[in-house]
Amino acid sequence: MHDRTAEIADRLRTDPRIVALVLGAPWRRAAGDGAGAGADAGGAGDGDTNGAGAGAGADDIDGAGAGPRTGPQTTAASGDRADGRGRMYVGVPSPAELTELDLPVDGLRHFGLSPADLRAGGWTDTDLRSAGLTPPGAEPEPVEWFLAGEPAQLMLAIVPPGPPLLARPEPGSGAGGFDPADVQEIPGIDGCTDPESDGMLLVREIRDGLVRRARRRLVHCVVCLRQVHRTDPATGVCPGCAAQWLGVLP
Ligand SMILES: [Zn+2]
Repeated sequence: MHDRTAEIADRLRTDPRIVALVLGAPWRRAAGDGAGAGADAGGAGDGDTNGAGAGAGADDIDGAGAGPRTGPQTTAASGDRADGRGRMYVGVPSPAELTELDLPVDGLRHFGLSPADLRAGGWTDTDLRSAGLTPPGAEPEPVEWFLAGEPAQLMLAIVPPGPPLLARPEPGSGAGGFDPADVQEIPGIDGCTDPESDGMLLVREIRDGLVRRARRRLVHCVVCLRQVHRTDPATGVCPGCAAQWLGVLP
């Protein structure tokens, strides 16, 4: 098993010891190695013509020669929709402006603005990704799951734009033979420096609850006497032992 704890700590911009204390260790990848390679497919689209509007608007405000051009928002609005309703994109603030106003960057979702709307209003693909949105036409970022415990008792996912997720592994068809259950977001661990902070104590509580629930579901194999996720209901034998001693194909 390749220990991924240091890699996870690096991606969460914290120390492996903090990951170990707050989440657990060691971590292994839920799928086979190599999964998640090439995840960064959307980068090429950043800074393309979609982003031109925002920059031009700033110039118009400063410059004297604004003249007939009234800014990017009204330009975007000129593309009437097939349903006949013209849409105005007046004053869609950029993520930087939202942050300056102390407003959540992903808040515009709640006003019914889709990523396509925001892009028409001047957001770049980078803006969309920074707000946790998938640019139109782009593949969503794959969620990468990791496992801890033997047998697995905790799942961790690093979702590129959002907070990491913790979950309870349940036997299934997902990566590594497990599906995540009871998925919970754990904000605040990115860049964490204090494993004893209130936020991290809350994360530990979430972790402990998930691990408790996972352990309650474990059973003993009657052959190897180990705790396992699943045994055959008729024989009480785990899949590994069934393959070795009962001639059952795994
Ligand atoms: Zn067994």
